[in-house]
Amino acid sequence: MNKRIYLSPERRPRPHGRYWGMEAYEKDVCEELASLLAPLLAARGFGVRIGAPEKDLAARVGEAIAWGADYYLPIHTNASTGGAREGTARGPLVLAYDHPAAKAACRRMYDSLLEVYPCPERGRGVQVSRNFYEIIRTPMVSVYPEIAFHDNGEDARWLVENKGEIARALCRGVCRWYGVWDPLIAKSPGAPAESSGPWR
Ligand SMILES: [Zn+2]
Repeated sequence: MNKRIYLSPERRPRPHGRYWGMEAYEKDVCEELASLLAPLLAARGFGVRIGAPEKDLAARVGEAIAWGADYYLPIHTNASTGGAREGTARGPLVLAYDHPAAKAACRRMYDSLLEVYPCPERGRGVQVSRNFYEIIRTPMVSVYPEIAFHDNGEDARWLVENKGEIARALCRGVCRWYGVWDPLIAKSPGAPAESSGPWR
């Protein structure tokens, strides 16, 4: 297994993405998740690169293409308000390119996140995005999780208190797509997912 996974955590610094009720911000949390996830993936044989904070989206996608990335993984948390009041929306969401293989890869990631998210009935599923640069301009498969809503107090608390578990869930989402079965990160028994072929 020498697939290459490019991680692209939120790049906009504070005050963007303030977590409701606490002094935490999306960029910092997502960068920490990327730094927790990278060694998990590397230990399972994946090549890993993390987009540098100073690189804009076009530079990151360009770097991923030049490096030969097989799988592009933005890392974000979500918001439903401008931040002046607490949002009521909750739950994981994974944004996909409108292609069956892309949606299947996103479904693996979504299922992995729902295994650790405390209110799975609030999950929002896999949705097609037709305008996010890192989805429509990435020639490799792109899996774009919005892990939970940081402008909701319950979700924000879950995010900051469960970063290790969330990183393991992100790792499982990648592993399932490539058919890597690893009991150390396994959450539920079952056959590994089928591996992907060339897809677009
Ligand atoms: Zn974001």
